[in-house]
Amino acid sequence: MTDKTLNLDGILRLSLMGGQARAFLTRSTRMVQDARDTHRLSRVATAALGRLLTGASMMGCMLKNDGDSLTAYIKGGGPLGTVMAVAKADGSVKGYVDNPDIEPPLKADGKLDVGGAVGRDGQLTVIKDLGLKEPYIGRVNLRSGEIGEDLAMYFTASEQTPSLVSLGVLVGEDVVAAGGLIIQIMPDCSEAALKSIELSAPMFMNISRTFEEFDLNGAMAQLLGHLEPEVIGTARPAYRCDCNRDRFARGLISLGRDELNTLINEDHGAEVNCNFCNRTYRFTEKQLRALLERAQR
Ligand SMILES: [Zn+2]
Repeated sequence: MTDKTLNLDGILRLSLMGGQARAFLTRSTRMVQDARDTHRLSRVATAALGRLLTGASMMGCMLKNDGDSLTAYIKGGGPLGTVMAVAKADGSVKGYVDNPDIEPPLKADGKLDVGGAVGRDGQLTVIKDLGLKEPYIGRVNLRSGEIGEDLAMYFTASEQTPSLVSLGVLVGEDVVAAGGLIIQIMPDCSEAALKSIELSAPMFMNISRTFEEFDLNGAMAQLLGHLEPEVIGTARPAYRCDCNRDRFARGLISLGRDELNTLINEDHGAEVNCNFCNRTYRFTEKQLRALLERAQR
């Protein structure tokens, strides 16, 4: 795959049927490949994290302000452990899974067993930091651990917005295609419009195959052409970590004096690893002493 094809990622924010529903359509092939490379993800881990990152990038685009952020994580009790995604309002995301290298057997139909790897005995939690005193927290029990269905459940139960969610990652040696679609019914949606969307649902379900064949605009025409789509915004679902040295320095300071003294006297330095991008920040004994000064004040 050339870089040119990988770089066709994008998010379309759409109005359907004159505003009776809204939709987000995403091609996220490059973003999911970047997550796979960053964490050396197994195929099933690529599919699981890729689906959640793709969903989170669209949910990020639903946020109102640039400084807002959204965290979505799943604890399903499966061998992958926690699947974590953090998104910003520009569609950029970062994330991780606890166990990136597990590779369970394929399902009987030859597909990756995402639900089995994530687990079905647990919850999906969504935290929105909207710059207010308290973040918004919504939580639902998992339906299948396949992630798309679980996010749909979240929108319906926790945000009272009936939604259809399809997320897909096709992965061979590399990520072949990845994408997602969220359709949300607006309160004034007519019965006829609702029926059109429901009847179309089966063709939305193999979204990664759609993106294997079509670019973003082609996929919009293919999937939503009959629902009068109107593009009202665009964004890019890039994999991007915003960590920096200062943030980890503040983290070390917050450990407190005793802990810092232990690092200085016993370890003679510290190494801190970022879960989201795997960058390592090293602090020498001298640098830790400077942080200790700040902790004392
Ligand atoms: Zn980082």
